Amino acid sequence: MNTTDTMAIRTQTDTTQYNEHSTPIFLTSSFVFDDAEHMRAMFAEEVDGNIYSRFTNPTTSEFVQKMCALEGAEAGYATATGMAAIFGSIMGLLQSGDHIVASRAVFGSTHALLTQYLPKWGITSTYVDIADNDQWAAAITPSTKMLLVETPSNPGLDIADLSFLGKLAADHNIILNVDNCFATPLLQRPIDYGAHIVTHSATKWIDGQGRVLGGVILGNADLLRSIYLFCRNTGPSMSPFTAWILSKSLETLHVRLERHCQSAHRVAEALSSHPRLQSVRYPGLPSHPQYSLAMSQMSAGGGIVAIDVKGGAAAAACVIDSVRMASITANIGDTRTIVTHPATSTHSKLTEEARLAVGITPGLIRISVGLEDVRDIINDLTQAIDAAEQQ
Ligand SMILES: *Cc1c(COP(=O)(O)O)cnc(C)c1O
Repeated sequence: MNTTDTMAIRTQTDTTQYNEHSTPIFLTSSFVFDDAEHMRAMFAEEVDGNIYSRFTNPTTSEFVQKMCALEGAEAGYATATGMAAIFGSIMGLLQSGDHIVASRAVFGSTHALLTQYLPKWGITSTYVDIADNDQWAAAITPSTKMLLVETPSNPGLDIADLSFLGKLAADHNIILNVDNCFATPLLQRPIDYGAHIVTHSATKWIDGQGRVLGGVILGNADLLRSIYLFCRNTGPSMSPFTAWILSKSLETLHVRLERHCQSAHRVAEALSSHPRLQSVRYPGLPSHPQYSLAMSQMSAGGGIVAIDVKGGAAAAACVIDSVRMASITANIGDTRTIVTHPATSTHSKLTEEARLAVGITPGLIRISVGLEDVRDIINDLTQAIDAAEQQ
């Protein structure tokens, strides 16, 4: 079993005495020891097994094993949300006095973590432009312990050069931590480029159906050991019920993602010539400023398209108010097509200047292309942009 698509389907924890074909949900908080000596040996980690579901659980382990196979990671830990994964991946490894170099274009809550919370515990950070390799290198100080990057970025779809960052991290003996949420391991495997840690919001493409929140931290076994101990003691663990849903979702990820990418590509192409749009950004289109870099490290452009409507915030609001099928909601990676206005929602807490620095213009609309018939998606978006034009 060596292809990752097959591993996402066939990786399975041991069956029970019932020989079930698909894995049950082990909804149990704890596991029974054979005797006092077994209890001692389990806590001493002299024997393998499950003790308590905040530590490990068979259903959760199956999800983690599948994610490890897909990302090429040695170890992993599943968390309740994507933010818990990002938080755990930092707090499990860094301490007061440590410094992070991060791409400016990070998820809104990651930005809050870096600027509002981590400084309270003495962990500081410096932002750099994601695409400027010289800035990454120049920002490293003797106390820098981690490079933190999200590529493609949300919602600007800017690309970090993963080979460069992998080498930079190796040269300085620091940790490269990649939020691979937008690409998923099927489009891009940061560990192949030298990343030590990869996080996901499994809420997005991995669930892919807008039903559950989840996250996962993957990577090098030694680093994951520290992260595991931090998480096991502080409690952001994933529920076995969520793990069961996500493990099932992984079995269809390759099929879903192929369609999401094909449709997103067609949406980007169809909207590219629309006179009412200032620009259409999609990593899979040659018009993307980093097209060749994107295609050298990603196998497809992903499921997100960003459009910039001429006429700013008012025009963007008009387009959003004119969609008939697409949902107006803040999530991404769903079967249903979603439109979001980042400037007034996900990134509303940033200053106008900070938004513009990461390409979030007032007219920017983020489209998460769903699995509906692509003709319906294109018709809906086109009629919405046309309707706004007549205002
Ligand atoms: C949604 C998202 C997160 C946070 O994940 P949650 O599951 O909502 O906590 C982190 N990074 C990126 C890129 C995201 O899109």
